[in-house]
Amino acid sequence: MPRFLLIGYLLLASSTCTGQPVGVDQRSLGPSGEAPKVDNRYVNPEIAMQHGSLFAFLKARFRSGEWASYDPDQYQVPTAEPELVKPTDTQDEARVTWIGHATVLLQHQGINVLTDPMFGDFASPVDFAGPKRITQPALTLEQLPPIDVVVISHDHYDHLDKPSIAKLGNQPKYFVPLGIKKWLVGQGINPERITELNWWQEVVIEVRGQRLKVTATPAQHFSGRGLFDRNQRLWSSWLLRWDNYSVWFGGDTGYNKVQFKQIGQRFPGIDLGIIPIGAYAPRWFMGTVHVDPAQAVQIHQDIGALHSFGIHWGAFMLSAEPVDEAVALLAAAVAESNLAAQEFGTYAIGETRRYPIVREVD
Ligand code: ZN
Ligand code: ZN
Repeated sequence: MPRFLLIGYLLLASSTCTGQPVGVDQRSLGPSGEAPKVDNRYVNPEIAMQHGSLFAFLKARFRSGEWASYDPDQYQVPTAEPELVKPTDTQDEARVTWIGHATVLLQHQGINVLTDPMFGDFASPVDFAGPKRITQPALTLEQLPPIDVVVISHDHYDHLDKPSIAKLGNQPKYFVPLGIKKWLVGQGINPERITELNWWQEVVIEVRGQRLKVTATPAQHFSGRGLFDRNQRLWSSWLLRWDNYSVWFGGDTGYNKVQFKQIGQRFPGIDLGIIPIGAYAPRWFMGTVHVDPAQAVQIHQDIGALHSFGIHWGAFMLSAEPVDEAVALLAAAVAESNLAAQEFGTYAIGETRRYPIVREVD
């Protein structure tokens, strides 16, 4: 096994393995549901952090043969040509384009929103090691339309990419969970372009006369970009509400019975859920921080989304499952839950879906 790969995985995995169990009393939410903090580190309110050992993880990764590799001769992640909004298009539909991994372009009412911009080749601190991209993003940063809003779910390398942020620069407004503003300012982003929120906090912005409500919603995950900053920055999911269309972006999350039901109860009428389905194996290591496809379906139902599609697969081999397994397991879980196949599926990388406006959102 090449040594540079080990370095990348060590950095990625190290922050997941030493979580200390904390008592329920310490993990209670703030008065408005804010994320709890213990000893200056954010914690997940619905679970005591229980991680498998790093040694066992690395053994599974490099020794046991349990880890699938990507063989394009066996399976190719499907790709498609994006169909972005043109100035002459009508605005009675929302357009959603999967650029790859957790990077999604939302276009509605003249507002362009980008989630977790990751256009780099390596999901790691260095540009030569760690999990390497197996599929290219559908668009380059140069091919993107002008981006008005960027939402970031957390600071992991596959969601927060330095070169991508540097290229996006000060054009978009950034919405980030607590702690990430300082990091962005360090990359040269103007502090006035950044809004940092705790769970359930919300701001309303206006872009060329159109209103967009941006709400940070909870997720069950963790954070850290190095060996010593574990859980010092918050993680979140995001709700984006246009006047007549709403999208929930799940980012990266494990499942619990509380948070997603709360999101569905507080915000009835979510039109589209963007829900992670990959990086779930082995469950003993990933179980608390990454949902599997069946849990993704549970989230879709908990938040009450009209449609959902699965992200966080097909770009980086972050975990042990074969790259196409998430797609098959999702289809099986959708059928088992008696949902129509089109209610929750996957896109090809680059695919644009058009969603008609079907219900009013206040
Ligand atoms: Zn993550
Ligand atoms: Zn991730």
